[in-house]
Amino acid sequence: MPTYVYRATTGGCRFCKDSFDQKQGINEAPLTKCPECGTPIERVICVPFLKTGRSDKSVLSDSNLKKHGFTKLMNEGGGKFRKTP
Ligand SMILES: [Zn+2]
Repeated sequence: MPTYVYRATTGGCRFCKDSFDQKQGINEAPLTKCPECGTPIERVICVPFLKTGRSDKSVLSDSNLKKHGFTKLMNEGGGKFRKTP
C-alpha cells in the first residue's frame, strides 16, 4: 500500500501544518481534509524532478540537490522530515 504525504493548504493544526503521511490504497480517493482538524489538505509530491528524463539517482544525489539550492528531506515516518546535511 503506498504512502502519500499530505499538507494543509492554509493554516492547519500541529498534525497537518507541516505534512503527514497517510497510507492509502491505490484505488482510494485522496484525502481532502485533515482527519484531526478538518482543514483542507493537498497531496504533496516530494520529488520535483520527475520530468527531467535523467535517472533518479543522479538527479537526487546530494551534490546535485545542493547545486540547485534544494535540501533533501529524509522521511522519518510519522510525518516527520529530517534535513540531510
Ligand atoms: Zn489538522
